[in-house]
Amino acid sequence: MTAPDVQIRAYPAPRCFLCGTEGAVLYRGLEDRLFGTPGKWGVRRCADPACGVLWLDPMPFPEDIGRAYQAYYTHAEKKRHRNPRLQKVFDSARSGYLAQRYGYPFNGNKMVEGLLGLLIRLHPTRRASLDFDVMYLPHKPGGRLLEIGCGSGKLLEFLKSLGWIVQGVDFDSRAIDRAREKGLEVRWGTLQDQRYPDNFFDAVVMSHVIEHIHNPEGLLRECHRIVRDRGQITVATPNAQSLGHRVFKSDWRGLEPPRHLQVFTAPALHSLIEKVGFSRTKLLITSRGAQEIYVASQAIRRKLASSKPNALDRAMAIAFQLTELGAGLVQPDVGEEIVMIAWK
Ligand SMILES: [Zn+2]
Repeated sequence: MTAPDVQIRAYPAPRCFLCGTEGAVLYRGLEDRLFGTPGKWGVRRCADPACGVLWLDPMPFPEDIGRAYQAYYTHAEKKRHRNPRLQKVFDSARSGYLAQRYGYPFNGNKMVEGLLGLLIRLHPTRRASLDFDVMYLPHKPGGRLLEIGCGSGKLLEFLKSLGWIVQGVDFDSRAIDRAREKGLEVRWGTLQDQRYPDNFFDAVVMSHVIEHIHNPEGLLRECHRIVRDRGQITVATPNAQSLGHRVFKSDWRGLEPPRHLQVFTAPALHSLIEKVGFSRTKLLITSRGAQEIYVASQAIRRKLASSKPNALDRAMAIAFQLTELGAGLVQPDVGEEIVMIAWK
């Protein structure tokens, strides 16, 4: 499918949508390098250092933003081709780690899985990616879970296999069809459209969704309403203060104009989560995905159509991730991804 040639209408957005401070212009004339949506976009940064959030200026109108998604696939799933034996070892390690860390049941030999799980703990990005696989949720058989922006339901399918009763919402109807083929209960539209009852879910999760939403505060307020008392929400989103952004600047993959309407900093997301009423919070900044971010940002910088890396790129991507992990020891906010966990 090709991108539309119709311009997205937009309005000026000089002030921070969170704190009202005027933003300084950070970038001008950015284009959609991933899906070719027409238009040029600027990015502003909130001048209040305690906030520092980034946003698009001009800001696309909500009724037009769908045009930026016409060539975008939320239902595409990457297939991993691993050696079957290696895959088995990896699955055992995952099961061991999730059992020890989150109380999920072991799949096979408890001792073998337990030992492999302990090894995983030593590997910070592998660990972060397994934490992410369960969205940092402890085992709760029969617990009711909602994923906002579930795409074709890959995460929901896995969480369902671990005993969660899962539901999803998405506005990509093709992705919803794929999810339904897997027997998942998913609904089309916005979260607010669904009118879920108060205190309905034990957990609400969203992975790389909040940066696409016009009213993140309204979305989080609705999450707070539908999650039960002491229920958990987990929100993952790109980090505006990451090493990737510092290195690649306007070519950083995390900017993704015009689909990323805003890119959060950890303090800005934290204060928004508290503002909507979540009382207990835990903030994590991880380097999960740093290699992919490096490769994709490098492709944007070189104006390449595809981000297929060569051997040197792959080696540089590993070096980049290690640098980020090392830098994270002295400056914890440089990871590529913010994970905000909060309890009502
Ligand atoms: Zn601000």
